[in-house]
Amino acid sequence: MKKVRHTGSHNVFDNIMKKERIFKNREALSPTFIPSFFPHRDNEINGFANILKPALYGARPSNILIYGQTGTGKTAIAKFICDQILEKAEKENKQIHTAYINCKQTNTPYGVLTNIGKSYSNEWETIVPNAGWRIDKVYAALKQKADDNGGIAIVILDEIDALVNKKGDDILYHLTGLNSDLSNSKISLIGISNDSKFTTWLDPRVKSRLGEESLTFAPYNALQIEEILSQRAQIAFHDNVVDPLVLTYCASKAAQQHGDARKALDLLRISAELAERDDSELVTIKYVNKAQNIMEIDQVRSIVSTLPIQYKATLAGVVLNQGKRKDGHQTTGEVYSTYMQICKHFSLDHLSQRRVGHIISELDMQGMINAKIVSL
Ligand code: ADP
Ligand code: MG
Repeated sequence: MKKVRHTGSHNVFDNIMKKERIFKNREALSPTFIPSFFPHRDNEINGFANILKPALYGARPSNILIYGQTGTGKTAIAKFICDQILEKAEKENKQIHTAYINCKQTNTPYGVLTNIGKSYSNEWETIVPNAGWRIDKVYAALKQKADDNGGIAIVILDEIDALVNKKGDDILYHLTGLNSDLSNSKISLIGISNDSKFTTWLDPRVKSRLGEESLTFAPYNALQIEEILSQRAQIAFHDNVVDPLVLTYCASKAAQQHGDARKALDLLRISAELAERDDSELVTIKYVNKAQNIMEIDQVRSIVSTLPIQYKATLAGVVLNQGKRKDGHQTTGEVYSTYMQICKHFSLDHLSQRRVGHIISELDMQGMINAKIVSL
């Protein structure tokens, strides 16, 4: 076949790729973007930096536990501080290493040790394979590597509760004990958690070692979120493409949900993308409402898809019964009989009406349905 070149002729992307009217820097609204300035977090950042400061003088900083609900800036600020201390260390010619580990993604002792090892050296993988060694051998290799390198390692264990729930207490025990095994280097651990109660499950020794210092990130209020949004909007958008009310509106929606800045930023990003797709010149409240709907549907979808099969069948029973009665109500008996038909249809083992009643109240607690107990 002959290749034909359409020089100067129409390209399929011509129509859909217009000049970007809304976004100036899309990246600024992505979840991985780390801003260089964090409104309303001066105290937290100063406190954090002060705890880590000894590293720049060659001493081991205390271990820190950081608490706060989702979207309060814990991850972004921890990464920001690491970048800052590395920058300073380079200027001052100090040996500091940092490792960032998301424990939800890396939740095995092997994975955690490997990640720390990699922060010391790019050649870690040529020394220690990514799997297969006994864990004490990996631990010994890490110790060796740390002492060969000297210096101070700052290790961030984000979503650290994932290690505890997975019975990974062990790894925390070893990590917090690592310092006493090191002769020529030091390690500081920074644990981050959404759940302030997670330490109740920890071995008391691990708990006291990890929590040498602690910081709490409070939820933002609506005004604070609005400022965060407006700072980000200046980077992300061209001038005058966002109705100023939009920022207020996104902020108030997110403040209703425990002051979550991530939720606000997502809402703003999706609203702008919807406006863009519509070829609109202005991001308006209309798009925020649409974005809100999309986010809610996504959330419900992800909850439903992870429900156990019997819960799905029960929920399906409720949904199929909807609208059968004028008052919109349905009884457990009615749900149960639809549930039985569903089980039959899909050759599913069925539970007793009592059990299904329990499932109904659990679905109610998860906010999937509204249930009321009425005694007849
Ligand atoms: P957490 O780890 O506490 O759940 P994140 O650090 O992921 O929260 O923050 C969620 C989003 O909000 C990120 O995009 C982050 O950059 C942003 N953010 C949070 N607090 C601030 C702030 N004070 N200033 C600017 N952006 C912020
Ligand atoms: Mg986080």
